[in-house]
Amino acid sequence: MKKLTILLFVLIFNCVQAAPTSVDTPQNNLTKTQALYLKLLSGPSPDTAGLTLFANMLPKGGDLHHHFSGSMYAETYLDWVKENSLCIFKITDTYLNAQKFHVFTESQKLSDAQRAICLTVDEVLRDDSFYRDLLMEWSSKDYANHYHAQTPPDMHFFDTFKFFENITPYGYRSGLELIKSRAKAENVSYLETMLKIAPLTSSPDLTAIFKKLNKDPSELEIQNTFTQAYAYLQNNRNSNDRIEEYLQSIESVSSDLDDADFRLRFIAYTARLSAPEDVFSRLYAAFVAANRNSKIVGVNIVGPENNYVAMRDYALHMRMFAFLKKQYPSVKLSLHAGELALGMVPPEGLRSHITQAVLIAGANRIGHGVDIAHERDAPELLNFMASNGIALEINLTSNKDILGIEREAHPISIYRKFKVPFVISTDDSGVSRNNLSGEYVIYMRNYRPSYEELKTTVYNSIRFSFLSQEEKQTELKKLTQKFSEFEARMAMMPQ
Ligand SMILES: [Zn+2]
Repeated sequence: MKKLTILLFVLIFNCVQAAPTSVDTPQNNLTKTQALYLKLLSGPSPDTAGLTLFANMLPKGGDLHHHFSGSMYAETYLDWVKENSLCIFKITDTYLNAQKFHVFTESQKLSDAQRAICLTVDEVLRDDSFYRDLLMEWSSKDYANHYHAQTPPDMHFFDTFKFFENITPYGYRSGLELIKSRAKAENVSYLETMLKIAPLTSSPDLTAIFKKLNKDPSELEIQNTFTQAYAYLQNNRNSNDRIEEYLQSIESVSSDLDDADFRLRFIAYTARLSAPEDVFSRLYAAFVAANRNSKIVGVNIVGPENNYVAMRDYALHMRMFAFLKKQYPSVKLSLHAGELALGMVPPEGLRSHITQAVLIAGANRIGHGVDIAHERDAPELLNFMASNGIALEINLTSNKDILGIEREAHPISIYRKFKVPFVISTDDSGVSRNNLSGEYVIYMRNYRPSYEELKTTVYNSIRFSFLSQEEKQTELKKLTQKFSEFEARMAMMPQ
């Protein structure tokens, strides 16, 4: 059977290789590709099917905003549940500590009463109605296309992670292999993924250091707290051991994945929702890890920005970044900031997050940046981002799903006018059930960039990646070669 599959693959591969490719000059191929692209975009409604074919074949460089766990489709999680003989609760029963759609990961502790309400994957698949409901709970699938009881869209999106966060560790390696093959299949050659949260060190001593911060601490008190916490963590054996384990786990799951056509790098991260000492301890670990291992190319912070704690501590978090950036100046920062819309929080909450991420934390890239129009000094900030090459990671489907911001309401038009460099990325393609090509289709269809701007957007995904200068040069050369092959094939397409 395996031989037959390989034979089939070789046959298909040879057919693809034999597809018509223009032998015209590169300039003529470019001209014909531009003409084709313009035609796909022309008229009152663009040719979405044609653009989909175009986007699938388009070289797309890198995906710079990519959460590993959110990028796995629910079907893949079900594969891992099955492989590990785990089960999924079909009902909620607080007495039995069972929550509907949650995976029970400690099979050996499963009581008979729990077993009776916990379905194997085969049992899930036999119950189509439960299976469809599960896909909806574990992702945004069918969220908006029919009438059903709904939680708020941002809550639904972030809640999906609760269902599969316990299963994610079962599939780090196979998941990375899957996203690599998926990337290559859609002509993506580079990924910066957020694989694992940086390790936490919690101790009463660390909590005590942060307790000293009163409700409205002075800048000096904040800096003193960070200095003490930093010294504590540096000398804490447990923290050092956990960071070492973290580094080793990244190494072991990613070994030998890079090849001539694909590179994979990691972004370490903390989460916004916990107590300040926990955010700091994870952030410290993330900085140390990124400073020590060249596969970890940057640091980020994740979690719903409109969460109560996230809003309350936002300014403190940005100061943590600034403090640690001073200790590790070569570590790059890509920060989720401004993933908010009017109405999600009081208006004051929309006025400074991107500014703080850029000017206080020292972000090299901003993830989302959707509330830019509400920032207090938006024009100055935009000019600063443009002149300092601080790129924006745009996640169109995610913004639509979580924030309800799409089409002309999306501030992509503002960033374009101010010439802020941007990239198109996926965020959580498993939750959104999309891919990078799909994001490019939305970008092309809704915002109609010229072919030149489209190419710049793709090149930005390497130029503003966190690869070393030398690696960027190599990747840019490969991208140019890929574009020349793409344009030679597009030149043969019927216009
Ligand atoms: Zn994100």
